[in-house]
Amino acid sequence: MVQSSAYGNGGGGGHASTAVVGIASLVTNDPAQGDGSPLGVIRDAALVIEGDRIVWTGEGARVPATDHVVDAGGRAAVPGFVDSHSHLVFAGDRTEEFAARMSGRPYSAGGIRTTVAATRAASDEALSANVARYLAEALRQGTTTFETKSGYGLTIEDEARSLRVAAAHTDEVTYLGAHIVAPEYAGDPAGYVDLVTGPMLDACAPHARWVDVFCERGAFDGDAARAVLTAGRARGLVPRVHANQLGHGPGVQLAVELDAASADHCTHLTDADVDALASGRTVATLLPGAEFSTRAPWPDARRLLDAGATVALSTDCNPGSSFTSSVPFCVALAVRDMGMTPDEALWAATAGGAAALRREDVGRLAPGTRADLVLLDAPSHVHLAYRPGVPLVAGVWRAGEQVVRAA
Ligand SMILES: [Zn+2]
Repeated sequence: MVQSSAYGNGGGGGHASTAVVGIASLVTNDPAQGDGSPLGVIRDAALVIEGDRIVWTGEGARVPATDHVVDAGGRAAVPGFVDSHSHLVFAGDRTEEFAARMSGRPYSAGGIRTTVAATRAASDEALSANVARYLAEALRQGTTTFETKSGYGLTIEDEARSLRVAAAHTDEVTYLGAHIVAPEYAGDPAGYVDLVTGPMLDACAPHARWVDVFCERGAFDGDAARAVLTAGRARGLVPRVHANQLGHGPGVQLAVELDAASADHCTHLTDADVDALASGRTVATLLPGAEFSTRAPWPDARRLLDAGATVALSTDCNPGSSFTSSVPFCVALAVRDMGMTPDEALWAATAGGAAALRREDVGRLAPGTRADLVLLDAPSHVHLAYRPGVPLVAGVWRAGEQVVRAA
């Protein structure tokens, strides 16, 4: 298997065209194509890549002439996964905490402090190498767009350098100074909010696209979360919110009120929360790796979908509560335990993630979109849930370049 690791927009370069033919089932996420379903599935399909873009999709019998041809060998093809929620800028390890929790100790947000101490002690090079390692791991599993956050520094300099490290690997960078109250401010949480909305924001805003807050009992209440998000928005950052993960709270409704791109977790929702998500354009991003790794109740995707909310699925990859980089694993959990159909789960992990990042160029395959493509060693995308835990990814193209090729 060969691959490269940068997650930027990087061009495919040149204008040579490549046809990928012999695709048994191509998911486009474009209802105007193929079978007319939301996934826009084309059977016996082909597509053409030119530079970093898709320039043609359709039935294989009608594929135009190209400079190069790749035979998919009857495999299924889907858009590259869009993982819109991860925490990869960290150092250290929390194996013992996980083992203790699986032995009966309940989860609390306090474990984040362990990672904060290790992250502060790490060099920039060590942090960057860690990000690269987990991005490469994700790429092998089909993820071609990746968001990641700060939040384990919690000082002005450590938050700013976390964002600089992240920005070297991905365009989707989120300022999460308000992850927990920094240990130095344990007796003065209001003073920490002043820091996060003042000098820390000044240092961080140039390196980020998004601002996020952990709105939860034990982290930041509704008033503090509102202060963090509005301050970030005033600096040009777009809000997203960790909301309603551990219990009911104001996070989801605050996210919708502030037109956040995404409310993430959404595990404990009132009817009013569901109604708010269904009425606004804020995406409900579900992160079943967290419930899996903390033995917590699953979020109810069926309830959200039936109400008309837009749902995304992401990994929440982090060393404490969800140490998986595998979108296929999350798809399988969502189908098995959260009431999603295989089609809905795949859409949520591709087009849903793109919606949560307000991206039009990824998460679907149609002329003009970025050529981010995953070949599965399977006749259809349903196998992602039907064959859980099996490494089905046989090839990955990102921005027109084949970056993973199964041996
Ligand atoms: Zn998170």
